[in-house]
Amino acid sequence: MRARHKPWADDYLKEQTTYVELNPPLYKGKWQSRFNENQPIHIEIGAGKGQFITGMAKQSPNVNFIAIEVVKSIIVSAVQKVVEQEPDNVKLINFDAKDLRDIFSENEVDCIYLNFSDPWPKNKHEKRRLTYAAFLEQYQHVLKPGGELVLKTDNKGLFEYSLVSFSKFGLVLDEVTLDLHALNESTNVMTEYEEKFAAKGQPIYRCRAKFPNE
Ligand code: SAH
Repeated sequence: MRARHKPWADDYLKEQTTYVELNPPLYKGKWQSRFNENQPIHIEIGAGKGQFITGMAKQSPNVNFIAIEVVKSIIVSAVQKVVEQEPDNVKLINFDAKDLRDIFSENEVDCIYLNFSDPWPKNKHEKRRLTYAAFLEQYQHVLKPGGELVLKTDNKGLFEYSLVSFSKFGLVLDEVTLDLHALNESTNVMTEYEEKFAAKGQPIYRCRAKFPNE
């Protein structure tokens, strides 16, 4: 996802402390205290401009959502959406998911969404893919037993890679669909990328997976 450099992004994020957590390691193990209601925590990694997280928050008021996005000039668009809509079940973090364990303690998270993650098609960039084993280790640590990892993408290469990576890691696949939109799920919340690719007629792939217990 591209965004123009926004020199004001830093100051803007610092002003939005109702929704943006500027020092996320401070809340490790204590994210519930950042929300009004004590309820399951779902996180999106690579949240982009925030359409998914705000849509999900509206649809599921009984879930606390945390959007994680590494690029400042992108996350500001998500923050602007949240500031406009004022949901009380969304927080945002400008953070690199490679250090997820620094901001969540063991079993703190109920569900992780990866939506249209960067495919990094070259083999030499495998380690950057959000479904690379080192990332899966982090997800396993922070997810509760039985917690779900949900991947949506239009990218065939990333999808194939991810299924193999999940399998090598011992994840159990609850669902694999090669045409999500053909299911006509009324609960599916579309991301910015999903809308763009679906409009071009590209099928959307989805996989729901769980880590084995213990
Ligand atoms: N989920 C959005 C954006 C997809 S683009 C959508 O579907 O429309 C992928 C996003 O992931 C980009 O905004 C990129 O900056 C972010 N990203 C990539 N690697 C990341 C990482 N390690 N931690 C957090 N965000 C990351």
